[in-house]
Amino acid sequence: MRYYAPITVFLLAVLAPCIAMSVLALRAAEREAMYVERRMETALLAEVDLTCAGLSQLMADILESLRRSALEPEWGGNPLAGVRFTLSAGRLDLSGGSDETAAFRDNFEEFLLQGESLPTYELVTRAYRTSGIMRQREGALLETDPLAEDRIFGRAESEGFVTYPRNVAPQKTSQARSSLNASPAPTPPAPNPLAARMSGPEAGGTSRAILPESPLQDMESAQPNESPAEFEEALYDAMVDIFDSQPTFRSKTVSKRRSFSELVSEAPFGLLPNVTDYGLELLFWAKTGQGRYTGCALRMDVLRDLIADTMPDVISDARILTVLDYSGEPIVAPTLFPAAAPDWASPFVAREISPLLPRWEVGAWLTDPSSLESRANFARLFAWIQVAVLGSVILAGSVVVIRMMSYEMRIASQKTTFVANVSHELKTPLTSIRLYAELLASGRQTDEERRREYLRTMISEAERLSNLVDNVLTFSKRESGRKNIKTELISLADLTAETVSQIEPHLEKLGFSVRCAPGNSTEKSFVRGDREALKQILVNLLSNAEKYSGASREINVEFGHAGRSAVVRVMDRGIGVPPGMSEKIFHEFVRGDDSLSAPAGGAGLGLSIARDIARRHGGDVTFSPRNGGGSVFSLTLPLVIGGTGDGRQDSDSRG
Ligand code: ADP
Repeated sequence: MRYYAPITVFLLAVLAPCIAMSVLALRAAEREAMYVERRMETALLAEVDLTCAGLSQLMADILESLRRSALEPEWGGNPLAGVRFTLSAGRLDLSGGSDETAAFRDNFEEFLLQGESLPTYELVTRAYRTSGIMRQREGALLETDPLAEDRIFGRAESEGFVTYPRNVAPQKTSQARSSLNASPAPTPPAPNPLAARMSGPEAGGTSRAILPESPLQDMESAQPNESPAEFEEALYDAMVDIFDSQPTFRSKTVSKRRSFSELVSEAPFGLLPNVTDYGLELLFWAKTGQGRYTGCALRMDVLRDLIADTMPDVISDARILTVLDYSGEPIVAPTLFPAAAPDWASPFVAREISPLLPRWEVGAWLTDPSSLESRANFARLFAWIQVAVLGSVILAGSVVVIRMMSYEMRIASQKTTFVANVSHELKTPLTSIRLYAELLASGRQTDEERRREYLRTMISEAERLSNLVDNVLTFSKRESGRKNIKTELISLADLTAETVSQIEPHLEKLGFSVRCAPGNSTEKSFVRGDREALKQILVNLLSNAEKYSGASREINVEFGHAGRSAVVRVMDRGIGVPPGMSEKIFHEFVRGDDSLSAPAGGAGLGLSIARDIARRHGGDVTFSPRNGGGSVFSLTLPLVIGGTGDGRQDSDSRG
């Protein structure tokens, strides 16, 4: 109990931080799985960004090559130039196949000749950058702050820009978004260029509509058979369906309608993406002189091939990487899929390419989504195993340290008790010796019998003192490693009888009856050993029989042999040894009752020394309870066959 304080300190100082560390490590283990995904996301995003940058550069190169080609005859054979036009003094001349020129007229004649406006596209951040530092700061927040995003798109809308939903819902972005957004993501405004195209320039800024997704495309084809009101209603329902069925992500590309004259007043040449009945078309124009323009419709099949050529490998062990066009279809798809084709609408990560290719995206899909999960699980498991191993090592170490600490503390406490007990044991006989010596010296006691009595007491107390000192000396010799003992042949019967006869007067004075007799055999048993040391064993056992006799005053000493051992048994009818203590009492400093107020004094060394001496002689001292109450302490020593009992000194020594 008294060891609790240092152990508690140890637990607090070592174990508590270890447990805290383990908890942190386990939390980290859980996060490890997340990091695996995060690393994959970062790697794929880097690849997607690189591809986007490459494609933007490609578009810039294309624009430049067209600008140069426009100055050359026959456009220098530029493979991208489809139907070519020249516009001068209100006259539009086209060169190309008849089908293509007819389609060109459908799509662009009104725009080029009659001032019709078409949507022109730009990045919302660019559109937004036009004035003010606050707007720029908000533009920078676009990727990270959904509230800023809402503000930016809302403002762009109020300034007449049309905003669109993206073609895809990237998984990683959707997770990042949902963790950022405590409240459900606000439905993005979705003005409809389709409606805008049908109802004129002013419609784009006022009506809330959406780019043609598949249900809306159905609406478009159904439109001629329905009244405008029914069509609007059906369009609205279709929009609600779209927003309900998938998370919506706003395109960073916004559009504003502009006429050709506005466009050419802003730049001398350029590319205009336009959604036509044939899909996305790109119109190139360049100013060649005052009121004169030339240009062409780009051959989208050639553009697609060029894009496909600039792409890195579409499929690798980890991912599929491709470009999705305006309709959300891949322009290059891997021919061999490991399993099923991925869901093109939910890439792992994706980015829009450029305002020149509105709603085109570079996306990356995991080749085997389950492998990422199993890698995450493995990372988690590995971290758990590490923590478990570390935890067990710390636990095992702590158990060892605590055990050592308690052992050391117990020994320290026993030593303190020992010093107190020895001092007590020395003081008691010294006090009575001094008392009787003073009485005798004063000459006041004249009764001869009483004076002899005093002297006997003084002798017996002195013997007690010397016995204690013997034990302490023997112990200190043992501790300092000086264990060599001289040996001689000894008759155990004689040694026992001699020791008993020396102590008997003292015992008899205390009212003890001591019986010393041979046990099973009257034959003399000879042992080899150190006479004084063996005597010390017997003195200790007899002294204990006296100390722990309780009310009983009976001591029996038996000697004889059992098999190849000589045996001496010291038996009493005393208090006995408590259960569970029969071995512990042989440990040094251990006492049945180690308080100073114990009925019998002692230092807890007698039995430990007795056993130590016996074992160094090749024997032992053991305890067994005595039938009918009391204790039996047995000293066994190896019997020496053919001993002569002549008491001759022997130079043999045992370690
Ligand atoms: P000490 O007698 O100085 O305490 P010992 O090593 O001789 O030291 O004994 C250790 C303990 O064994 C004693 O404190 C006592 O509790 C118990 N013991 C020894 N001898 C006897 C005995 N004859 N009867 C009962 N208990 C005994």
